[in-house]
Amino acid sequence: MTGSYDSIDTLLSRYVAGALPEPARVLVAAHLELRPENRTFVGGLETLAGSELEAEAPVDIGGRDAQLQAIFASAPPQASVPARGDGVFPHAMRDFFGFDADRVPWRTKMPGFREFEMGEIDGCHVSLFWIRPGRKIPHHTHEGSELTLVVDGAFRDTTGRYGRGDIAIADQSVNHRPIAEVERPCISFAVTDAPLRFNGPIGQRLSDILGF
Ligand code: ZN
Repeated sequence: MTGSYDSIDTLLSRYVAGALPEPARVLVAAHLELRPENRTFVGGLETLAGSELEAEAPVDIGGRDAQLQAIFASAPPQASVPARGDGVFPHAMRDFFGFDADRVPWRTKMPGFREFEMGEIDGCHVSLFWIRPGRKIPHHTHEGSELTLVVDGAFRDTTGRYGRGDIAIADQSVNHRPIAEVERPCISFAVTDAPLRFNGPIGQRLSDILGF
């Protein structure tokens, strides 16, 4: 991925500029289906960006402006994707993965923790996670950016609570041990650009890996 995302606003701005790698673009499009209120913000950015480009005098286009124009021209923003209520996965995710939540070819990585690894796409590692209610994810930090979109259930960590439609953003500055809420399994879509680094007390790490 290119750089880190210090906030949802930065992420949405890069989405509008067409500057996100494909898996991150899909993750944001899926978020916008589940959180229509953020579509207003994205729509406003698109309008502002559009009028800025129209206001540019063509003779004055330097390298930076040409680059910006290329960015805006290359990937038409898809913020107006209509929300569809007929699946667990938002439409953008179903198009990308080719299945919904009931057809994920999960592999159990740890007790109560399943993963589907789609592999490396556009410089990002792409995974889906299924976490048993109440399960803890071993304490870790990140060597790059980690974007996590919750599509079912919810989890909590030191930065807050994330439910369906929420994006959690983590990077080198975040050390966390996410815990799935007890009501139902938590299913999430994660896009990372560097491996996680597991840390924390060895005893706790071991019990978190074994799931008790
Ligand atoms: Zn993390």
